Formats: sequence, C-alpha cells, structure tokens
Amino acid sequence: MAYRAWFESLRDPDERYALDEVVYEDTQGALLQVVHDLDALRATPAEEWKRLFDARAHRTEWPYGSGVWGKKEWVLPGIDPANIVSMYEGHSNLFWAERYGRQLGLEDLWIKLCGNSHTGSFKDLGMTVLISQVNEMIARGAKIQAVGCASTGDTSAALAAYAAAAGIPAIVFLPRGKVSTAQLVQPVSNGAITLSLETDFDGCMEIVRQVAANDGVYLANSMNSLRIEGQKTVGIEIVQQFDWEVPDWIVIPGGNLGNVSALGKGLLEMQEIGLIDRLPRLVCAQAERANPLYRSYQQDFEKFEPILAGATLASAIQIGNPVSYEKAIAMLRRFDGIVEEATEQELVDAVVEADRTGLFNCPHTGVALAALKKLVARGEIRADEKVVVISTAHGLKFTDFKVMYHENELPGIESRLANEPIVLPARYETVRDEILRQIERRAPRS
Ligand SMILES: *Cc1c(COP(=O)(O)O)cnc(C)c1O
Repeated sequence: MAYRAWFESLRDPDERYALDEVVYEDTQGALLQVVHDLDALRATPAEEWKRLFDARAHRTEWPYGSGVWGKKEWVLPGIDPANIVSMYEGHSNLFWAERYGRQLGLEDLWIKLCGNSHTGSFKDLGMTVLISQVNEMIARGAKIQAVGCASTGDTSAALAAYAAAAGIPAIVFLPRGKVSTAQLVQPVSNGAITLSLETDFDGCMEIVRQVAANDGVYLANSMNSLRIEGQKTVGIEIVQQFDWEVPDWIVIPGGNLGNVSALGKGLLEMQEIGLIDRLPRLVCAQAERANPLYRSYQQDFEKFEPILAGATLASAIQIGNPVSYEKAIAMLRRFDGIVEEATEQELVDAVVEADRTGLFNCPHTGVALAALKKLVARGEIRADEKVVVISTAHGLKFTDFKVMYHENELPGIESRLANEPIVLPARYETVRDEILRQIERRAPRS
C-alpha cells in the first residue's frame, strides 16, 4: 500500500496542496497541517509498526536510525531517502529523575532530554524534515535561493546546521541582545547569514514573512507545518521508550506553541493508527511575562489575544504573538490539557533545585518544572502518576544566567542556593580547613 501525505487547511479539508508547493497558509491566512492517509497506515497492523520502529532504532541503515526517519512512513512517506538531510536526531534519553521527583512528591517523574541532540534543542527534530523536503524540491528543479527563519535562538541554530549539511544558503533573523552567546555562535559557525535586528522575536517574524513572500526565501519557522511533522515524533518516541505504554502526564514549555501542537499530533496519530488506546494529559507551561495562552486558558480558551512579551530568562519562549495558538488550543482541548505559568523567581528556583539533584536545566525546562511543582502542590497531579517533563534544550546553551545566579547577580532574583567557586591559595592546611567547613555547612543527604 502506498503511503501519502499532503498540506491541508485546518478549516477546510478540501483545500489541499502537495508537499512540494511553496505554501504556508490557507486562503483565509490560517496555518496548514500535514495530513496523512491514515487508512493506508492502518492497513499495517499496530504490532507490526511497533516491531518496525523498534528494529530501526539506533541502527545505521540510512536514514532509519534517526528517531525521526525511523518513522519515515508517518513523517514524509514520499521522500527519496537520497534527499534526506539527517544527523541522527531523536532517540534522546528519557530517564527517571528519582531524587528530584521525590523532592516534588512524585514517585515516577521522567525527563525527556530533547537537548541531547545535534544542535542542542528539539528544533533538530523539525528541521531535518523541513530541510530534507527543501533538498528534494531543489533536486527536482525548484528555484529556492535560500531558507530563512526568525528565531529566539534555537531554531536558527538548527536551520543553520541542517542547511549547511545540505549546502543550502541559510538566513537567520535574531532579536538583538535576546539570545544567548552559545545560540548566536551556532549559526555564525555554520556559515548562515546572521542578522541581528533591533526588535524582539515577533518583530523578526514580521520581517521574515515579508522576505519569504517576496524574495524567494523558503520559510523555516514552525508556521511551516513540515517542522511539526518532525517534532511530533517526540510523543511517539516517549511512548516507544516506555515499551509502548502511555504516561499519565506530559509537561512541556510553550512559546510559539508549535511544539505542544506537534506533541499532540503525534500522540493522536498513534491512537488513530491503533498503537495506543488512551491519551496522556498535557500541561503547557508559559513564562508569566509571555503568557498569552495562559490568559486564554483562564477564560476557557474563549478568546485569544496576543500580548507584548516582557523580558524573561526563558528567552526561547519570549513570544507574545504565537503563530500556532489555534493548533495548540485544539490539542489542549483534546488532551484535557492545563496551562500553567511561572514567574522569573519560580523558574530560576526550579532550575537550581533540579540542578542540585544532578540535572542541568535550561530556563524553559525550568518553566515546565515550576509549573509541575504547582500542579503537584494543588493535587492535580498525584504522587503515583507517571509524569514526563520535556526538557527542550541543553543546559550548556544557557549558562549565562546560571553563572549570574551563582554570583548573586541576577537582577530581581534571590539566589538562595548560590554556590560560588571558592578562591584559595594552593596550601594544604588552608584547603583542608575550608573543605571541612564546607562539608559541615551542607545539609545531610535527604
Ligand atoms: C523553541 C523552544 C521552545 C518553545 O517551543 P514552541 O514550539 O515555540 O512553543 C521551548 N524551549 C526551547 C529551548 C526552545 O528552543
């Protein structure tokens, strides 16, 4: 049976486009989605899909060892494997955060470390799909001069890397002074045309939309639903890693809201194809200073109003006008979802407390952990439920705020657990006395 997929309007199933058309929105200006021929996918028994996905995982047979391309039939069934641009993304570790979970009052807390990936964030999952599709279109003669995106940092890093691997020019539009050093040096190193604009993410997004509409630049933001097809594999992969058991909750930070939409889409397709028979509940966590979805949730999603996002340490989710809000709301409704928020102090506290148990979190993961703390405290999440927190980026991409925290220099933040390096002369007695003092000071192991 031939597997097929196409772009489809969210509102009108008759409005369809081929995946190699350059189109990002429907005639009403709303987002498109990639839709699969589910009947064809259902013709293969669920147990066979599971066996196939398990057999491919972590192998080197091109391109199926990748966590995304191991599920190629569900992602881009028609693409020629020779045109796929992959750096074996996915299969990021999912581990039991026993000690931190116990601190929160949870027995079964798991962290899905999506930051353990080629460019250090989950954005690789979507970018491998988008760049592969562009690569195939170019191979078939399409005139695409370059790929471009607005970014809060991680999207541009992923775009630059995958475009460089394919030999396609990339242009990234970054809000000046609002991305970390590590995030800025990634596209620079990969040779992307790196533009630092005097605006915020939403301002960069407006410019890149114009460039995409007028100047032959292919748009790589998550309003391009090809990205969602790659990112949706995270939910499938979590269930696969639990030997095809569904957890009770998945907590995920949200900014532009593409990732929470993608997570939901993957899980729904698993249910529709028959691999799972129940759904987890979803929690989308926002920074209090960039919380338009939280505000909408407070009113039962009756309306949605963009806001002007304030400065937050969770810079990758500092977005006031998220493009995927409609998809996200639809998913949260399907998954009996909750939206929670975290202040700057709450997100920092969560990062630091979790780091003390051996994790090394980015601030966005801190937002998710802070939201989780609140839901456990309110009794909405029970002690014995299986909870997965999606950690969206590698902590090493966001060390600036940790350094400042431990130096007690984060404006407006109380550094209760600051742990500054101790400068000492290299003399045995002095060192020994200091070590003994320090050991004494620390609380006994709980
Ligand atoms: C992009 C990003 C997010 C937010 O994902 P959205 O799809 O924009 O909601 C969260 N954390 C990190 C580290 C990111 O790079």
